[in-house]
Amino acid sequence: MTQRFDLAIVGGGPAGAAAAWQAAQTGARVVVLDKAEFPRDKPCGDGLTARAVSYLQKMGLGEELNKFHRVDGVKVFSPSEWDLSFPTRPGMPDHGYVARRPELDTILLRHAGSAGAEIREGAEVIGPVQDTRGRVTGVTLKGGETVSADAVIAADGAYSPIKRAMKMDSEYNGYSAIAIRAEMPANRPDSNMLEIYLKLAFEGDQLPGYGWVFPFGGGQINIGLGYVNSYKKWQQINATQFMGQFMETLPREWDLPKIDDLKKAKGVRAWRLPMGFTAWPPWRPGVLFTGDSLGAGKPASGAGISKALESGLAAGECAMAALQNGGPDDFTNYAQRMEAAWGREYKRGRYFHKLLGQPKLANAGIKLIDNARFRDVVLKSMYKKAQGPQHKF
Ligand SMILES: Cc1cc2nc3c(=O)[nH]c(=O)nc-3n(C[C@H](O)[C@H](O)[C@H](O)COP(=O)(O)OP(=O)(O)OC[C@H]3O[C@@H](n4cnc5c(N)ncnc54)[C@H](O)[C@@H]3O)c2cc1C
Repeated sequence: MTQRFDLAIVGGGPAGAAAAWQAAQTGARVVVLDKAEFPRDKPCGDGLTARAVSYLQKMGLGEELNKFHRVDGVKVFSPSEWDLSFPTRPGMPDHGYVARRPELDTILLRHAGSAGAEIREGAEVIGPVQDTRGRVTGVTLKGGETVSADAVIAADGAYSPIKRAMKMDSEYNGYSAIAIRAEMPANRPDSNMLEIYLKLAFEGDQLPGYGWVFPFGGGQINIGLGYVNSYKKWQQINATQFMGQFMETLPREWDLPKIDDLKKAKGVRAWRLPMGFTAWPPWRPGVLFTGDSLGAGKPASGAGISKALESGLAAGECAMAALQNGGPDDFTNYAQRMEAAWGREYKRGRYFHKLLGQPKLANAGIKLIDNARFRDVVLKSMYKKAQGPQHKF
């Protein structure tokens, strides 16, 4: 059986749901294919930045967010303790949330469905269908069914089967982090701050990464850590064991469960986090890459949900604009959009990714950040930039 759509979107996570929602607004015939049945989990810190909140508001989900635990800033341990508020930007939220992914992603996917996209869960894509010139014209599902479309959006996550099947070569391939997390109870008051711990050492080396404690409210927290793969011994790190060691550095009175018990209960999960545009250019004839499959994660922090939403919305819009005006052979409009949004930042990010893989430089970096006077100057200039030009009326 063959069905034909304007747009077939592989993956119904934040990137795929945002792309589907956006394209459906134009009246396009859109199908989202996800191998999972929702609600499904995705290993994540579950932290929504203020920017992620702004995209969810843009999609009409602002009210829905009230059910999640609100956070008003970040408490950093470097190891000295200091607070960072979300930058106050005109027309932008000044707060974030901690939202369990099964719940958040289901809301997003159902929202795309309400906008008119057809949602097919339990639909595993095994690869793209390509014409004789290599242009993607649809996908094949496990079981043999073909779904045809004028264009395909690959929103299929960090291990993108579409990318792998196409043996995609990319200028910036390989930039990524490994991250691991677990949800657990903690004997401490609920906080309204995300907590970031910068001192992470492996065999005496300062790691390019950080640990986190994000509050869900109701006495539950998400603990995790991540480090980038430019550190030469990253493959020697047993992530679960390392997370257990990190948990032991946290206050005893929190009464955290033992890592072995969390592991036995299958509560600890690790995943890759590609960053810095691992698929570039972000399209090939007939297909656009978005979210983790694009490597949209922010190199400096690993924040990926806001980037998945932003790149997903852009992919949905640019795909439909190109299809209506030039056809499926050229999605340069999408590359231009992504380059304008993050090109310079990600170029810098890839440079620091390499640099901070050297423990000496990572250590020097932490020492600088731990210096209150240095922080004052850098943070002030960052905040000024985020706020944009100040107008006096
Ligand atoms: C441990 C960890 C912690 C993190 N913490 C944070 C955080 O606190 N805040 C933040 O902003 N970001 C965080 N991130 C990053 C964030 O989780 C990702 O960037 C984000 O989920 C990317 O969204 P996506 O839609 O691109 O991919 P995903 O959310 O991975 O969605 C991909 C979808 O594709 C589907 N799929 C895969 N293969 C197939 C197939 N063959 N056929 C059909 N469907 C398929 C999957 O089922 C899935 O639903 C974290 C990442 C990790 C690993």
